[in-house]
Amino acid sequence: MALKTKEQYLSSLRELGHRVFIQGEKVASVPDHPISRPPAMAMAETYQQAEQEDMKPLFTAQSHLTGETINRFTHIQHNIEDLVKKILMLREMGRKTACCFQRCAGLDCMNSVYAITYDLDQEYGTRYHDRFVDFMKYIQSNDYLPAACMTDSKGDRSLPPSKQEDPDQYVHIVAEKKGGIVVRGAKMHTTGGVNSHEIIVMPTRALQEEDKDYAVAFAVPANTEGVTFIYGRQPSDTRRLEQNRSDTGNLYYGGCESMVVFDDVFVPEERIFMKGEYPFAGRLVELFAAHHRASYGGCKVGVGDVLIGAATAIAEAHGTDKSAHIKDKIAEMIHLNETLHAGALASAGKGYRTPSGAYAVDHLMANVCKLNITRFPFDISRLAQDIAGGLLVTMPSLDDQDNPEIGPYVKKYLVGKSGVDSEKRVRILRLIENITLGTGAVSYLTESIHGAGSPQAQKIMITRLADIESAKSCAYKLCGL
Ligand code: SF4
Ligand code: FE
Repeated sequence: MALKTKEQYLSSLRELGHRVFIQGEKVASVPDHPISRPPAMAMAETYQQAEQEDMKPLFTAQSHLTGETINRFTHIQHNIEDLVKKILMLREMGRKTACCFQRCAGLDCMNSVYAITYDLDQEYGTRYHDRFVDFMKYIQSNDYLPAACMTDSKGDRSLPPSKQEDPDQYVHIVAEKKGGIVVRGAKMHTTGGVNSHEIIVMPTRALQEEDKDYAVAFAVPANTEGVTFIYGRQPSDTRRLEQNRSDTGNLYYGGCESMVVFDDVFVPEERIFMKGEYPFAGRLVELFAAHHRASYGGCKVGVGDVLIGAATAIAEAHGTDKSAHIKDKIAEMIHLNETLHAGALASAGKGYRTPSGAYAVDHLMANVCKLNITRFPFDISRLAQDIAGGLLVTMPSLDDQDNPEIGPYVKKYLVGKSGVDSEKRVRILRLIENITLGTGAVSYLTESIHGAGSPQAQKIMITRLADIESAKSCAYKLCGL
């Protein structure tokens, strides 16, 4: 069965039995816990969309490994069209969920490990690529989703992994056993980890010979002994525990991150994709970063669409939509949002074929796209809040509207222009609040800064990738030097 339905996915998650903790308590079923349900439903939407007839061209692809029709979230991209379709698919998902729907981190990770294991084998005569191909076939034919685990806890940032006071601050090999290795450490900010069947671990930075034991890439099922997920809090997340869910703003979806602990986890040989080849650690990080930085020009743009829609709707509800400065602000929001998309599409359009046959995005354009992402969603949010007005953060809850004593007041004084009742106004404002201040702001704002690498990482890459020498020689020629 190469395509799972949304319900099959949710059942598989309930049956997984992985160790997840939220606010100090063990979670029995991730999709049924009120805090983790919206993120599970966002992930589930990637299955739902692949079932929709009109979405199939975007959300499904033909596997080059099995020939089967698979979910595009498990596809190894093999041409420019694949790269473009991924970006378009992510925008569509952003529009449907207005949050981080999580599945692309694993997708970008699979595409990167696929390419790098091929290069590793060419260099060292290893068999990592065949192993990874077997893993991919397993993922594709079961429509599983693996989380990408990259960022280590890092301890003292000025020291490399092997010089840390506590050697576990980066995931590393602690023992070799018959048929595999034992690893220890923790990966932070793991997007969608609790909603994933498998986890793929990659190094987080370039490494030197003394860090050899940290140059390790592998995959294990999420329910492997010794693996624990500790859920990350988000602003207003406990609003999900309230009876009246309307005050969450986004009633259905959310993103999630977790700390993943590897407490002496055994990894069998067939699941190891890098073991000690430290010169390739940086290359893997760089390739994954390029893929994922481009992805942000899909997902965040989709969320931007929702925010632009909500800002327009609230302007209409207030009767300010015809005013010149509001029109100008909406135009600016659209301009910023489409500029983000342009960068991602350009990175796909200028993509290249790796020796493995898989395609990768243009690294320079991907980094430019992501650096814009660290800024523009903040500008778009500022404009949305400007249009929304101060009620965004002072409005009473919908529960107050239901109270017989005060409800009539709230309903009377929170109306918009004629025909716009208080509930409509509050619901739109709550959505803007969610995306720019609440749980949604984790996906749309802070993740836009730090996800797939913080701004400085993009600046370093942009400086390294830009051909400054040839630009200089153009200048010299034109001024007669
Ligand atoms: Fe996907 Fe965007 Fe979330 Fe990354 S931040 S996993 S690209 S939705
Ligand atoms: Fe992310």
